[in-house]
Amino acid sequence: MTQTPRPVVSPSPDAAIFWDAASRQELMLPFCRGCRCHFFYPRSVCPSCGSRDLEWVRASGHAELYSFCIHHHTGIRELREAVPFVTALVTLREGPRMMTYLVGVKPEPQAIQCGMPLEVTFIEAADGRTIPAFKPRG
Ligand SMILES: [Zn+2]
Repeated sequence: MTQTPRPVVSPSPDAAIFWDAASRQELMLPFCRGCRCHFFYPRSVCPSCGSRDLEWVRASGHAELYSFCIHHHTGIRELREAVPFVTALVTLREGPRMMTYLVGVKPEPQAIQCGMPLEVTFIEAADGRTIPAFKPRG
């Protein structure tokens, strides 16, 4: 297995609670009290109904792999030593999809199946921040 990627991140102010939670190895999601739905990425209005009546809730950390890409080359200097690595689009149990990294698997198409059950884990970003990633469940 290759080195775990150390992504470059640029948090927005709307995501401060998400990043604070990640530093404690917790996955938090914004939740709209108006239409009772979770959403991601964090923003100041609900993307479904436009409500600003939002709160943050702790996510289960469970997800299913929706799609993935195995990167054999990268133009991002901080990630060069981690190739090949896997980026993924996962469907969280709460509903939203999240772009993330898939770790704990061989970066080979035979080892990765869409629909596979995943659980959150946490990796270190290039700037030392903690960032959620996903690994096979169990
Ligand atoms: Zn809403």
